[in-house]
Amino acid sequence: MANTKYIFVLGGVVSSLGKGIISASLAKLLQSRGFSVTIQKLDPYINVDPGTLNPYEHGECYVTEDGAETDLDLGHYERFSNIATSQANNVTTGRIYQNVIQKERRGDYLGQTVQVIPHITDEIKRRIRLLGDTGKYDFVITEIGGTVGDIESLPYIEAIRQMRWEMGRDCAVIHLTLVPFLSAAGELKTKPTQHSVKTLLESGVQPDVIVCRTEKQLNENLRNKIARFCNVEPSSVIESIDAKTIYEVPLLMREENLDTEILRKTRMPLDTKADLKNWEEFLFKLSNPSRKVTIGLVGKYVELKDAYKSINESFIHASAQNECKVELKMIHAEDVTEKTAAKILGGLSGILVAPGFGERGIEGKISAIEYARKNKVPFLGICLGMQCAVIEFGRNVLGMLSAHSTEMNPKTKFPVIDLMEEQKKITGLGGTMRLGAYPCQLKKGTKAYETYQTLNVRERHRHRYEFNNEYMEQYQKAGMVMAGINRQDNLVEIIELEDHPWFVGVQFHPEYQSTVAKPHPLFVNFVKAALNYHSEEI
Ligand code: GLN
Repeated sequence: MANTKYIFVLGGVVSSLGKGIISASLAKLLQSRGFSVTIQKLDPYINVDPGTLNPYEHGECYVTEDGAETDLDLGHYERFSNIATSQANNVTTGRIYQNVIQKERRGDYLGQTVQVIPHITDEIKRRIRLLGDTGKYDFVITEIGGTVGDIESLPYIEAIRQMRWEMGRDCAVIHLTLVPFLSAAGELKTKPTQHSVKTLLESGVQPDVIVCRTEKQLNENLRNKIARFCNVEPSSVIESIDAKTIYEVPLLMREENLDTEILRKTRMPLDTKADLKNWEEFLFKLSNPSRKVTIGLVGKYVELKDAYKSINESFIHASAQNECKVELKMIHAEDVTEKTAAKILGGLSGILVAPGFGERGIEGKISAIEYARKNKVPFLGICLGMQCAVIEFGRNVLGMLSAHSTEMNPKTKFPVIDLMEEQKKITGLGGTMRLGAYPCQLKKGTKAYETYQTLNVRERHRHRYEFNNEYMEQYQKAGMVMAGINRQDNLVEIIELEDHPWFVGVQFHPEYQSTVAKPHPLFVNFVKAALNYHSEEI
């Protein structure tokens, strides 16, 4: 195998241009030509990982197979490439400094003054190479969070400058910028791109390829102008026009030859062909639905676009599979009460109660579940959503009126959701979460078994609390089915209701494992159940 090639993706002019989608699209294209690819994200903030970030700050926290709490862009990487990421695929400035400081404390630097250059930049370079050094990849695509010109991005850009110097054509830099359309002038403007490239040049990095986010097509003149001002070939100016869905972007990038340009720059063979047949089929189904269902997503961050990113995307994968359109109605958990439930939830084809932490919105979630249970509306509860289903059942079916999770009410008389014994000891020391993939054994004859069609599955977790097994018998007698169990620790992972067409609660997060190539079966069957319950022709 030739040397691993390192592709850097930097953003300029403004944030939120979609570096993650461009990185994932490039990975998809290279992968479809037969290359092995991985993508990593370097985030210039000081938090050691995004696990502690409020969704208002940074959207959803994505969880990898090996239990890393990461940036949501890793979700895009997995959804596009269908390859699991890991702890090594997301590194923050906090983590970089933590490592350097630990080394300093251990005396590893032998009395040297520890500085941003070379110690921080060396640690950044080590982190970038970690994936390449496994020998598994032809390409490592590294996305740098933030925008060129930010103070906190400087060490990353310096590390890239050094790597280019050391590795020559084994590296290539893609700069993603905005080419705004000024309606008053009736023109697309290239000046911000020129300035952004200048800023990058001040740090000694010449981009190889410039990807221009734009609302309107770039004409030949404009491409030549950007090429001339930014020292790149005209063929290396790539248009990234606004797309109807992010899943169109790999096809648009193929039309613009982003993959060919990168292969050319890194001296890789060009005789391969990008085969995106399955992807095109998925897009076709996505764009030609014949029926529509409306599913309510009950959560407490519903006004935030990115808070339930993976759930949103999982529905898109499941809708293509079912050749229907899923319209998500975002519902504020706090708005739902016993009185308002029928008005807010009436007419929905399915109800999903979202994951979450803390007290806010809990009673609304419980009311929504009561409505779904009583009216036989297809229901999927994820993590806290499953826990709320257990609480609802405890209160309204088993008559334990004050049943609760000890997360919300540590003194409840009926702690139907509680910490595991081993965890109680650890919480005193700061608490820990059950993170990453764990096995789960399914029970034959359940919806879960029918859905997965296999006995043993692995799903990703991010939670502290669990179903309290002391109540197991009582629940089972009253019609709750424990459809999935972690045998090792004897934990309930999936609950269902006997007397309901489709009522499933899962302690794990299926949304982290849904990809275009492999839509998650739970979402696929939930949407199927919603279609059976009530759908409209389009
Ligand atoms: N707050 C709950 C727990 O810690 C659920 C977490 C979640 O929904 N991700 O167990």
